[in-house]
Amino acid sequence: MPFRKGAEGCMATKSVSVGMMKAAQVGKAGGDFELVERDIPEPGPGQVRVKVEVCGICHSDVMVKDGLWPGLQYPRVPGHEVAGRVDALGEGVSAYMGFGRRPAGGRG
Ligand SMILES: [Zn+2]
Repeated sequence: MPFRKGAEGCMATKSVSVGMMKAAQVGKAGGDFELVERDIPEPGPGQVRVKVEVCGICHSDVMVKDGLWPGLQYPRVPGHEVAGRVDALGEGVSAYMGFGRRPAGGRG
């Protein structure tokens, strides 16, 4: 039987439930980071999901945390300087971006 969130009888883990991920979010502009659990999202059409292995924090993220970008909505998870492995493909994504690839991103 596959493990799923809330399934009875599955083996418990000591930290993160199956189907959940940890995220460091900012609850409000100027707020502190708080470690939360969120559902692991499924990639949409043309998207891949990346299991983040490392994430840097840059000045853009500090500006997000401090609420200095106009129009941001909170809670928000800063952090766009990531590296990880592709672990799910959305509809229409070619095999070129297949499982296990290690994209690294950043735009700030
Ligand atoms: Zn950046």
